[in-house]
Amino acid sequence: MLPIEWHPYNVGRQALRHHHSQGDALRLPFTKPSYPEAYEKETTDMDMKFRFLGGADMVGRMGMTMEAKGSTFLVEYGLSPTKPPEFPLPAPKVDYVFLTHAHLDHSGMLPQVCGTNDCKLFTAPLSAEIGELMMKDTLKIAKAEDYVQPYTDIDIKKTMDSVVPMRFGDTITLNNIDISMIDAGHIPGAAMFEFEKDVRTLYTGDIHTEAQKLVKGAKPRDCTNLFIEGTYGGRYHPSRRETEKNFMDKIREVIERGGKVLIPCFAVGRTQEIMVLLKNLGYDMWVDGMGRKVTNLFLRYDEYLREPGVLRSARKRFNEVTNGYTRNEAKKGEIIVTTGGMLDGGPILGYLKTIKDDPKSAILLVGYQAEDTNGRMLLEQGCVSIDDEICKIECEVQKYDFSAHADHGQIVSFIERCDPDNVIIMHSDNRDLFLPDLSDYNVILPETGKEFHLEV
Ligand SMILES: [Zn+2]
Repeated sequence: MLPIEWHPYNVGRQALRHHHSQGDALRLPFTKPSYPEAYEKETTDMDMKFRFLGGADMVGRMGMTMEAKGSTFLVEYGLSPTKPPEFPLPAPKVDYVFLTHAHLDHSGMLPQVCGTNDCKLFTAPLSAEIGELMMKDTLKIAKAEDYVQPYTDIDIKKTMDSVVPMRFGDTITLNNIDISMIDAGHIPGAAMFEFEKDVRTLYTGDIHTEAQKLVKGAKPRDCTNLFIEGTYGGRYHPSRRETEKNFMDKIREVIERGGKVLIPCFAVGRTQEIMVLLKNLGYDMWVDGMGRKVTNLFLRYDEYLREPGVLRSARKRFNEVTNGYTRNEAKKGEIIVTTGGMLDGGPILGYLKTIKDDPKSAILLVGYQAEDTNGRMLLEQGCVSIDDEICKIECEVQKYDFSAHADHGQIVSFIERCDPDNVIIMHSDNRDLFLPDLSDYNVILPETGKEFHLEV
């Protein structure tokens, strides 16, 4: 670890604000700083030891260490937001942490590392700020539900103090490795990290290769080692345009027959995608839950948005629920967009009670519904659990694919265009399904906890 006085970076909240307020003037604040010679001599090894702490063979609780002589990197450290949450393996002592994006399964456990290690956390300032909301919410839920509290408020504060903001296109040098942050096209601020020493190693995090309302798609990069997510192994998205049309047609149909439309959404990304999609409908539309705060952060760091003006005008078309009075008004409205996306907590349950017995109304699911959630139970059994009581849902239920992940074919095409030697597939329940399409590559399907080596 570098003595702090050598450290060329601005760190922490101060840096976040400074970084943001400087705009383009500080376009490349961290480009390849030079270190004292003594430091560079420490690292001459050609290979690196990799170990997944979680998320290798599943969608959830990501975490991967990269060890070279002299220092240990940790790429992502998240939790699975099950009831109770599931955590990755404990992290060793690390020096540098890299966060791709703020979704809980990538960010939710960072305070356990950054709160107790003297480390630096490299990420986009937008991801850091949304991550803080997610970490605080995790702790709030743990306290309310009597779950294990994996860290404290002080750990969250220390995590924010350890942030070193990076922008897309920035390159830093640590341990003789050039590390660049690149747009991953998944949600605003989502990044891939490229590690370059003798060869290039690309870690995608979550990616989408097609443009969405908020962000453009990720572009492939020539590399030797490609760590890539495989959430949609064996599955293909229907045409986005057709999905959008069917979704809008259904909304009009429900409202014309006198019903209300309830759209449960994840706070980060999906809420805003749906708001942009619906902005010109002209109905009485409401937005509730943590998504409101995230929308404000997206607009504060609008350099990550494809068209900031579009989200800004969408926000104006939606009424915001800010208290009990406005929540009651929202219940009289026509469209309600709210957290939680899997119907397990948050304001959604109150709205569900209002419409569940009305066959004219509809619940339109627009996100992934994990096992053991209300959302999955609704899809499979037509009921949900509210206040520990199983309730039959009489209103219409429909599901739409608005995924922010590349599908099977898009992942395979991305791999082909990166042209790597080694493909390491992670963040997937169905990794085997990629094998028939990847016979030209050395494919590695790592197991959580087991180390492997790659030339870097
Ligand atoms: Zn994600």
